[in-house]
Amino acid sequence: MGEWVATTQVAQQIALFDKCRSFTKAKEVQAAGLYPYFTPISESEDTVVKIGGKSKVMMGSNNYLGLTHHPKVLEAARKALERYGSGCTGSRFLNGTLDLHERLEEQLAEFTGKEAALVLSTGYQANLGLVSGLVGRGDVVYLDKLDHASIVDGAKLSFGDVVRFNHGDLAGLERLLGREDRPKGAMIIVDGIYSMEGDIADLPHLTQIAHRHGAALAVDDAHSVGVLGPTGAGTAEHFGVTDDVDIIVGTFSKSLASIGGFVAGQEYVIHYLKHNARPLIFSAALPASNTAGVLAALEILRSEPERREALWTNTRMLAEGLRALGYDTGHSVTPIIPVLVGTLENTFLFWRKLFDAGVFTNPVVPPAVPASQCRLRASVMATHTKEQIDFALDAFAGIGRQLGIIS
Ligand code: PMP
Repeated sequence: MGEWVATTQVAQQIALFDKCRSFTKAKEVQAAGLYPYFTPISESEDTVVKIGGKSKVMMGSNNYLGLTHHPKVLEAARKALERYGSGCTGSRFLNGTLDLHERLEEQLAEFTGKEAALVLSTGYQANLGLVSGLVGRGDVVYLDKLDHASIVDGAKLSFGDVVRFNHGDLAGLERLLGREDRPKGAMIIVDGIYSMEGDIADLPHLTQIAHRHGAALAVDDAHSVGVLGPTGAGTAEHFGVTDDVDIIVGTFSKSLASIGGFVAGQEYVIHYLKHNARPLIFSAALPASNTAGVLAALEILRSEPERREALWTNTRMLAEGLRALGYDTGHSVTPIIPVLVGTLENTFLFWRKLFDAGVFTNPVVPPAVPASQCRLRASVMATHTKEQIDFALDAFAGIGRQLGIIS
């Protein structure tokens, strides 16, 4: 006991922890009963989850095609678990590569229309590995200011210059690329669908700019795989510019119903990344059960286009319903639908009331968005029923009026 007290006293003198002791913001929100994060789900049935013993309609998941509970996905994962065990216990580079990883890479290359693909253990690592692996000393990477954090972090890890342009400001990007003192080796990287806005990058215009300035163009299709394009191959396919986009990044944690990520591109670029991307080399490989689950999900994604159609039908139903109620949904044209609320306080209150009414959404607050543009983010799934969407819209209507956000 005496020793414990002494250790605690020493810990309290550690200056490094001062910021932890004075970090009270989250605790204040918790005390007010409005804390929306780390909410533990105890059961999940695709569009319905159980939290604290109560059912909620899940409107905050990236499970766009509703494949996390598909019998073929579960069966494939189960079989792989039995055959290969519970983990790879090492990096792809050394003992962790499975024949399943290579099969998935072949499938992803074909699916995205690229020569080769590389599987990493998360989508986050895919962006981190791509940007830090490829943009070296004497190179430059151009980032849209709303690019995902994993791209920003990849840029921080890289030894190249980092230049950010305003969201969608392609004239501004072109000016930056045209500077005479610009490094020769250049990469432009954008999100295909922006995760907080739900808008789509203007790839036809970006491919022209990249060509004109000899820059590589990379697209993070985390939210576009399975969602955009005639076969669900993503943003490049949606615009018919696959051959002009140099690199496509994707994640398995959304439409593909698992965890993991990939980078697809020309064979020699992928080969280079395989030997230079630190998040690939210094982290353990994707477990067999996940890899096999993704292979099954990809097969379903490709053979059941009706799922994508259902996703878009549901997207129209929810987006049009919210707009008809008077909500501002920004520039969204995809299954990611932001509902602009305004202040942080109102956003947390709105989130809590929706949650209590049985609808799970995600609050988006600074630093992800400016302080006056806090929002709830609703995400649509192919497997939502009309009844579930109507139920959510009823809740949005009642609570929005009660809080004076709509009239
Ligand atoms: N890119 C984007 C645009 C994302 O939204 C996300 C995750 N939210 C990622 C990359 C990272 O993917 P993962 O969660 O699979 O690591």
